[in-house]
Amino acid sequence: MPEVKIIDFRSDTVTRPTQEMREAMYRAEVGDDVYGDDPTVNKLEEIAALKVGKEAAVFVPTGTMGNQTAVMAWTSRGDEIILEEQAHIYMYEVGGPAVLSGVQMRTIRGRLGAMDPAEVKAAIRAKNIHFPRTSLVCIENTHNRSGGCIVPLENMKAIYEVAHDGGANVHLDGARVFNAAIGLGVDVKEITRYADSVQFCLSKGLCSPIGSIVAGPKDFIERVRKCRKLLGGGMRQAGIVAAAGIISLTKMVDRLAEDHANAKLLAEGLNRIPGLKVDMETVQTNMVAVHTRELGMDGPVFQQLMRSRGVWFNADLPYRVRMVTHNDVTRADVEEALVRITEAVKNRP
Ligand SMILES: *Cc1c(COP(=O)(O)O)cnc(C)c1O
Repeated sequence: MPEVKIIDFRSDTVTRPTQEMREAMYRAEVGDDVYGDDPTVNKLEEIAALKVGKEAAVFVPTGTMGNQTAVMAWTSRGDEIILEEQAHIYMYEVGGPAVLSGVQMRTIRGRLGAMDPAEVKAAIRAKNIHFPRTSLVCIENTHNRSGGCIVPLENMKAIYEVAHDGGANVHLDGARVFNAAIGLGVDVKEITRYADSVQFCLSKGLCSPIGSIVAGPKDFIERVRKCRKLLGGGMRQAGIVAAAGIISLTKMVDRLAEDHANAKLLAEGLNRIPGLKVDMETVQTNMVAVHTRELGMDGPVFQQLMRSRGVWFNADLPYRVRMVTHNDVTRADVEEALVRITEAVKNRP
């Protein structure tokens, strides 16, 4: 069999560090970050805080640790936190808020990731001896499970206001908040202003090999640092990876627009293939949710069919697969993938 080039749409986490990142990592000045001595980590944290308009920031190994340390730093045992029912923190973080922070999670149904502010308001607990305290509301932007949809700014603002009125803080799971900013055509600070804290990933569309940032008020970030240590995330010469993070923030943000254009191109092409369906309303950033029911194939079968032809993606619902565009997938790769999918569908068993 001839070698086929693998076109990998599984996630933007598969992006490899760029040559420029590798060189920066090679040259990085380092020190022991647990002592606060790593100049490259310190520089990344400073750049990150400025970029999202917060007082301080801390570098963490993963987005999951970023979210969990934020939940831990904002809450006390027995509190309740409010999340959208498909939120990553609820769905994919191994029950972390319950295990690590001892809080219970209350979920609210969203529309394309956006909760109704009136429902959030109604869910915030009144003062009553029987009730847990609602200490945190989490928003996710972009929203992963809905296919990378952008939670609108007015919605974030309204939730931020009802949360504060009810005595709760707001944490933004902004794993892909720069995709949201590029998608809306606004500075990221226009988004992060409606959250007290934010977590974002350097290791997804921004191409770093490892790492996330938590940003927020200074005293909160001090508590997050302590929680990070508790969870075993205090790293030593972390400047080696932080060096890539600096390039993520200074050089890799604007190019996300290419990923968004490629996602649109992919979605439009898929909609021309009989049996496949993409709701274009949901194609807002770098993800394409593809419905396969009319093809007569469930997601995993379609996924297997294409895997053998070098087009990789994940099946995330029984009749849905998710394709993610990123720096390691070019426009030409998208066109090639569409050719392969068209052929495979035409000749399917
Ligand atoms: C990927 C992701 C995370 C977690 O990041 P990891 O680095 O994989 O732990 C959190 N929230 C959202 C919305 C994500 O997409």
